[in-house]
Amino acid sequence: MTTAFIGLGSNLQDPLRQLRKALLAIAQLPGTAITAVSSAYRSAAVGPGVQPDYLNAVLRLETSLEPVDLLGTLQGIELAQGRVRTVHWGARSLDLDILLYGDRQLATPRLTIPHPALAQRNFVLYPLADVAGLNWVLPDGTDLGTLIARCPRGDLVKTGQRLIQDDTVPGDVE
Ligand code: ATP
Ligand code: CA
Ligand code: CA
Repeated sequence: MTTAFIGLGSNLQDPLRQLRKALLAIAQLPGTAITAVSSAYRSAAVGPGVQPDYLNAVLRLETSLEPVDLLGTLQGIELAQGRVRTVHWGARSLDLDILLYGDRQLATPRLTIPHPALAQRNFVLYPLADVAGLNWVLPDGTDLGTLIARCPRGDLVKTGQRLIQDDTVPGDVE
């Protein structure tokens, strides 16, 4: 089993419902258990045109799925929840990114791990810190606390909405 972190994002079709539904689908994946769920965070969209605000969260998993298989199943969940690929970075009902997969580093046309934009995105780093902790060390030796210190919180707001009611899965406590 490997510890992996998945970034969830949505800015269409009831984002909170989309993230909750995605969590339930990920919980059903073979060889995979969700071990922590971040808070939900809201921020203004980055991307072309005027778009609704985003809601983002991060899940911590233990999984025996290999990264490409994990990506394939996550893309299936995106499609099942009505994701339509139009413009790059356009509005979407659901986006699921593999942020980290153990200590693995991958750079293939289909999959780059760690996620290449991780260090630049407040809406990824802050929820990631909820479930990984600031002392988490990335494959290049940088710890999450260092990345957070370099990435201003900006307009990111912790909404207080919980993705899961089940107390058996640890969430962010605050
Ligand atoms: P960004 O990657 O900047 O967050 P995006 O999430 O909007 O942009 P998508 O259109 O969802 O981009 O994905 C484009 C492709 O990125 C996917 O088809 C997938 O093959 C590839 N990809 C590469 N690395 C990853 C990763 N770590 N997690 C998810 N997809 C990845
Ligand atoms: Ca993304
Ligand atoms: Ca994506």
